[in-house]
Amino acid sequence: MNPVKSLALAVLKSALGWDSRQACLLCGAPALAPPLCDACRGELLPLDLPGCPFCGEPLISRQDCCGSCREDPFPASSGFSLYPYRGGPRELLSLYKQGDCKELSDFFAGELFARRLSLKPLPLVPVPRSEKNFRRRGWDPVDRLCRSLSRNYGFSCRPLLKRLPSPSQKELSRQDRLTNLRGKVVPRRRLKEIPREVYLIDDVWTTGSTLRECIGVLKRMGVESVHGVSLVRD
Ligand SMILES: [Zn+2]
Ligand SMILES: [Zn+2]
Repeated sequence: MNPVKSLALAVLKSALGWDSRQACLLCGAPALAPPLCDACRGELLPLDLPGCPFCGEPLISRQDCCGSCREDPFPASSGFSLYPYRGGPRELLSLYKQGDCKELSDFFAGELFARRLSLKPLPLVPVPRSEKNFRRRGWDPVDRLCRSLSRNYGFSCRPLLKRLPSPSQKELSRQDRLTNLRGKVVPRRRLKEIPREVYLIDDVWTTGSTLRECIGVLKRMGVESVHGVSLVRD
């Protein structure tokens, strides 16, 4: 942009009390309540359908639980995902995980709190990261989300689990994901006092196999009740 135009734009923006930090992340329009403008916020449709009582999978007809839990009930006390994994939520999550906008953790934390977590102030257990992803990114999106929840809403953060090396779930077929993590999630050492009931926090809920593995370990550690929570469901 030429200097005259860019100066004029800067003057206009400052007259309107708007700067680029207040541009909507998805469309770039001015956002009165960042990070999104009202229109994009309105299009982020949460998963509001009644969910399966075990895993939270949206139920389309009037069933008691989803097809897969009828055969083998998911071991959680409840399951919840904020958004379907498409459109705006998918785009936001990828901006977040690529590290372009780490502050989105506060936005996601606010939405999780408003729609679900305000019901019960339970400790948060982050799904343990793969060290390979951590080395590539240099930070951990799920851990950062838990920290936002903890800082903004007073939840205690309890990283009870850690993950032994295994291929990244993302690189595997649906079938291979089901078995890849078996035995690869273990309790952290030197844990004091195990909570009775927790939220298990993840970013993407795909087959549920990561959460299932974590829940098995948490239960063997003495946690009685685990509520699975994710940002999106694929
Ligand atoms: Zn927008
Ligand atoms: Zn289910």
